Amino acid sequence: MNILITGGAGYIGSHTVVELLENGHSVVVYDNYSNSSNESIKRVEKIVNTSILLEEGDIRNRDRLREVFTAHKIEAVIHFAGLKAVGESVEQPLRYYDNNVGGSVALLEVMEEFGCKKFVFSSSATVYGDPHTVPITEDFPLSATNPYGQSKLFVEEILRDLSTSDDAWQIILLRYFNPVGAHKSGTIGEDPNGIPNNLMPFISQTAVGKREYLSVFGDDYDTKDGSGVRDYIHVVDLANAHFKAIEKINSVEKVATINLGTGNGYSVIEMVKAFEEASGKKVPYKTAPRRAGDIAECYADPKYAKEFLGWEATRGIKEMCEDAWRWQSQNPQGY
Ligand code: NAD
Ligand code: UDP
Repeated sequence: MNILITGGAGYIGSHTVVELLENGHSVVVYDNYSNSSNESIKRVEKIVNTSILLEEGDIRNRDRLREVFTAHKIEAVIHFAGLKAVGESVEQPLRYYDNNVGGSVALLEVMEEFGCKKFVFSSSATVYGDPHTVPITEDFPLSATNPYGQSKLFVEEILRDLSTSDDAWQIILLRYFNPVGAHKSGTIGEDPNGIPNNLMPFISQTAVGKREYLSVFGDDYDTKDGSGVRDYIHVVDLANAHFKAIEKINSVEKVATINLGTGNGYSVIEMVKAFEEASGKKVPYKTAPRRAGDIAECYADPKYAKEFLGWEATRGIKEMCEDAWRWQSQNPQGY
């Protein structure tokens, strides 16, 4: 299939481009580089040994999207483009709603104009809010505690409404748990701006000596060791699930909603230990107060992904940490 990848220069998008090209699909990458650069795509070109069609543009720019849809026969869209920093979304809600919700609406309108109605959306486990129990299945109640989470929830609702209005749409909502790790080559990976918000890039920057120590947010949760528990998933497994989603999209009736996690929960302290073993580096840490809005425990029930997509994660935390470390140590300053 010929697939438009919005946000394809970003962390998950770039790994997905590799996976799609290696499995015989063609792609057009569409990105405004607000949180990336074309360097990631140059490196993807080296991995897959072929050149990649790159269109610079913003998803809110309908005219630019029309040019791209006119120039390339797009059959499906995988929509990664979006802003993703929770704290920033609390400070700048309008910017988040404009980019993530307004941008998605603009993209969907142009798709409709061009009769392209196959859509894969990057949603998040954040739409489960504070789950009453774990593991989390796709039918759990939905809620959000910040504008980033709301923007994911709104786009999910918009997509459900769209499919009700016109059953020609075939939509897959992928709810990611905690993506980590990097491509085996160590040439592409996660490159956050400034001080990382997420655990894994913070740990790897501490191991490489860019940060003095990790603050462990909370040691009194009702979890195995008191620190927060999450379902970390290797980004290459996640990328592969997008390939599987594209393979299945023709059989979707209206909307399919799928958790992408491993089904295993690891604590912050377990992740630190695993990273130390994988890297041979010490990761100093200090206990700090709980972070506002954080939940104790969150991990997926991954059964439906296996049933619907025939997909399951195959990479464990050792590999996640080894691959994150290879990327970090080979690229201490990112791209
Ligand atoms: P990323 O920031 O690395 O990639 C997003 C890409 O989208 C960037 O290249 C950015 O430049 C581009 N972009 C942003 N706004 C745009 C716009 N208006 N027009 C065109 N391009 C735009 O983030 P990522 O980690 O690869 O995340 C990809 C998607 O997955 C996002 O929608 C994110 O919300 C979602 N997600 C990420 C995580 C995670 O922990 N990384 C978890 C759940 C969901
Ligand atoms: N965390 C931490 N220190 C950090 C960043 C994160 O202790 O510097 C913890 C956080 O409290 C949570 C886990 O690590 O329990 C994963 O956090 P992240 O921000 O990566 O993902 P999310 O909160 O979105 O699941």
